[in-house]
Amino acid sequence: MTTSAGHGSPDGTGAASASAIASRLALLEAREITKHFPAGRRGAVVHAVDGVSLALPAGRITAIVGESGSGKSTLARLFARLLKPTSGQLLLDGQAAPPGRGGRRRYAQQVQMVLQDPFASLNPVHDVRYHLTRPLKVHGLGPAGNLDESLAALLERVALTPPERFLRKYPHELSGGQRQRVAIARALAARPRVLLADEPVSMLDVSIRLGILNLLAGLRENEGMTILYITHDIASARYLADEIAVMYAGRLVESAPATSVSDRPAHPYTQLLLSAAPDPDRPEPVRLSGRGSVPSLLTPPPGCRFHPRCPHAMEICSQLPPPPAEVAPGHVSACWLHAPERPAGTVAPAERRHDGPTRLADDPSHQQGRPTRPALRHPPFPRPRHGQSKEAGDEPAGH
Ligand code: SF4
Repeated sequence: MTTSAGHGSPDGTGAASASAIASRLALLEAREITKHFPAGRRGAVVHAVDGVSLALPAGRITAIVGESGSGKSTLARLFARLLKPTSGQLLLDGQAAPPGRGGRRRYAQQVQMVLQDPFASLNPVHDVRYHLTRPLKVHGLGPAGNLDESLAALLERVALTPPERFLRKYPHELSGGQRQRVAIARALAARPRVLLADEPVSMLDVSIRLGILNLLAGLRENEGMTILYITHDIASARYLADEIAVMYAGRLVESAPATSVSDRPAHPYTQLLLSAAPDPDRPEPVRLSGRGSVPSLLTPPPGCRFHPRCPHAMEICSQLPPPPAEVAPGHVSACWLHAPERPAGTVAPAERRHDGPTRLADDPSHQQGRPTRPALRHPPFPRPRHGQSKEAGDEPAGH
């Protein structure tokens, strides 16, 4: 299986070769995309996203995982074209995203975003009916048949039933979960092919997060929707996504099928993230621990941006950005531990400061198809039922 996520190479020559096949199958793709924000002081910029390549395969869920400040939400906004990239390219169906106002509107119809805060994203002075009708007008889409029936069908797709109970409600009359379902229904009203879900459950009560995740899983299973799921919670990414890409300080550091990332994390940062994720089934703690916090993106560390926190940091790590390397089929890590070659005069593999396997391909247990460490056998909640959430319309207000 090839990864859908490429990593910007340090020299800017393009994504890792492992992503080439997947790129051809991608519905939406970012190539070497960069976003720098001016920061007030003369010449200073925030390096929010640097040279990220990521391909979203059709009909699959790709998760981007990272701490606050990793650039994952900025990347989602670049995909949505809410931000203009400093450099790099967006491709839809292998073609450059259409320019101009009309092109942006056509793109927006196909690529819709669901924001983190459902209360802020819905206009408090308008009811549900207004919110669901507006995308039809904006994108010039006639309802498929009778308008009321179309709106009812939309609400049923997000498990807000009976629909007539919700159409005339205002956002403040809905629970948090119900509001997020309305926000998703509004996105679906535009009949998109891609949903960009930016932390869609992080502001919801824990008890109703699972229903929203299952709703997204159902859209993939039943309708073949392509979804980008942004989260800081690697456990929920493991639960929902087919592929996981991990970001750190504006760069992509690891990408692989979701089970590979959770069972055999290669990059020290991913290992750190997993060590912080609660998992009652984990037979033993992940060995690594890190120190410090995400660096300032005004002056990101040179070389590997993780090196000030990394327990395996070597001399070269502070000098040169690590190139992406395939550590297992479809599993790419940007870390000098996994680089097949390194510049002359740098620390040799035997001198590294850790005692674990450096390349998963060098690890006998991985060659035999077994994980290098005890697998996280189950996510902290049950596998998706790929159906609609139970009693979504009956969530009590206030959640
Ligand atoms: Fe750690 Fe070096 Fe790998 Fe960065 S490149 S994660 S500092 S070992």
